[in-house]
Amino acid sequence: MKPTKNPIQKMVIVGGGTAGWIAAATIGNIFKNTELKIELVESDDIGIVGVGEATIPPLITILESLGVDLVDFIKETQASFKLGIKFEDWKDVGESYFHPFGTVGQKINGYDFYQCWLKAQAEGDDTPLMAHSPESVLSDQGKFFLPHEAQNTPLARAFYALHLDSALAGKYLRKFAEKIGVIRTEGMVKQVKQHDNGDIASVILKSGQEISADFFIDCSGFKGLLIEETLKTGYESWAHYLPCNKAVTVQTKNVGDTLPYTISKAQPAGWMWKIPLQHRTGNGYVYCDKYVSDEQAKQTLLDNIDGEPLMEPRTIPFTTGMRNKSWVNNCLSLGLAQGFIEPLESTAIHLVSKTIAFFIRMFPTKDRNQTVIDEYNHVVRADYEEIRDFLVLHYCKTSRNDSEFWRWCQEMDIPATLQRKLDYFQAFGGLTIRDEELFQSTSWYAVLDGLGVKPDNYNPTLDIWESEKLKKILAEGKQGLINITKQQPSHDEFIEKYCKAAK
Ligand SMILES: Cc1cc2nc3c(=O)[nH]c(=O)nc-3n(C[C@H](O)[C@H](O)[C@H](O)COP(=O)(O)OP(=O)(O)OC[C@H]3O[C@@H](n4cnc5c(N)ncnc54)[C@H](O)[C@@H]3O)c2cc1C
Repeated sequence: MKPTKNPIQKMVIVGGGTAGWIAAATIGNIFKNTELKIELVESDDIGIVGVGEATIPPLITILESLGVDLVDFIKETQASFKLGIKFEDWKDVGESYFHPFGTVGQKINGYDFYQCWLKAQAEGDDTPLMAHSPESVLSDQGKFFLPHEAQNTPLARAFYALHLDSALAGKYLRKFAEKIGVIRTEGMVKQVKQHDNGDIASVILKSGQEISADFFIDCSGFKGLLIEETLKTGYESWAHYLPCNKAVTVQTKNVGDTLPYTISKAQPAGWMWKIPLQHRTGNGYVYCDKYVSDEQAKQTLLDNIDGEPLMEPRTIPFTTGMRNKSWVNNCLSLGLAQGFIEPLESTAIHLVSKTIAFFIRMFPTKDRNQTVIDEYNHVVRADYEEIRDFLVLHYCKTSRNDSEFWRWCQEMDIPATLQRKLDYFQAFGGLTIRDEELFQSTSWYAVLDGLGVKPDNYNPTLDIWESEKLKKILAEGKQGLINITKQQPSHDEFIEKYCKAAK
């Protein structure tokens, strides 16, 4: 085989938020011993969006693949551990459910655990589904332990992610990327030059400096300086499915124990997050401004925080949706420049790294291959749509009818792809999920069950089981989980012992 013809020699990343620095670190790490030069341009005057503190487990895998020392990363980013999300008041006021990472239960003699649980329920067992989730039981007890150090116990099945300070995470990744040769240039892009075929040729900074490249990555945030303002790609809004369009945020002093999970509490016109870090707590109210004014939303946020505010509340507008195309000509968009699905399941940072993984799999040369670009755009869209559908589920199956917002959610038209999933589930509790989808069956079961959505039947093959035997196995599993969890340290004890930040 011949060496690569016309390889890319220079790549410019515009934007140094979380998206820009994740791109610089991961792509820079792959090409660190090659001819490819990577330069990142960011403007200190514009700054970063500065939110995005909850992550999901794939972040840990990315950090490990970069060779980052996880304990060092946790200390430097003031991170705490996250085992899932507790949804309060989503089904109805006063009711809550937990969405854990990882799996719920284990196959029993080759039978799907959820089906076994459904059969036991049909025959009088009233044990909640989440009694079989390691993350849920750990969270109930405020405990944390590293799953891989609990081998041969049910806790080994647990998964975790981090709550982190996004500004500190950006700084950490910047240091990492600069160490492996990524060049950082501070400056504001004032003009973008294009070749005759529409490709981007260079960016010109306020200082007059011109930076040319073969390929550009747009990480410039919501406005999409290259992908939208220059290449006019267009944005598809999903506000008709996910109408929340603003968030008001405030950081507060910590109060009480550090919870090993995110709290998402439904409000009359949206929902509120609480994210505990080592040095402070992040809070935000995500709302639809058709149903609540900015001033009322701010007041609701301030009425619901526990600790003293550390800043003035800040309002951030957004539209859930995505660019019509994520890769156009010689320009790839990432992060907020690519699209944004409201932060209900903390998927934005994950989407950055997942789409970088697709990009690396389909890495270009200077010779444009439209088939590859089309395939990339197709798989990125599939990921966004899958996440969109999962988020819509949280809203459309609510029983709340105490505000106009929630009544609208109950009545909205949902995506056909979600309707098909729900219809299939209704028959016997089955799910149509592709292997590469982010949210696998545990996630769907957790939210469906949490919202009180039950299938009409279980799979009839489960009738082979004698119900008392099945109930006994489930009861033993549940007790085993409680017992082993009791032996673990509290979340705060774990942080104190293994990864306490210096200040
Ligand atoms: C309310 C809210 C809550 C969120 N919560 C979560 C969460 O819990 N979990 C999660 O994973 N994600 C979350 N996100 C998303 C997350 O914040 C973003 O995905 C992440 O921060 C990446 O942002 P970014 O790097 O794309 O953009 P930004 O942080 O906006 O960075 C843009 C960069 O571009 C630069 N730039 C812009 N214009 C120019 C110019 N002309 N010249 C030079 N440089 C320029 C800026 O200086 C900056 O460096 C949330 C987002 C919002 C809005």
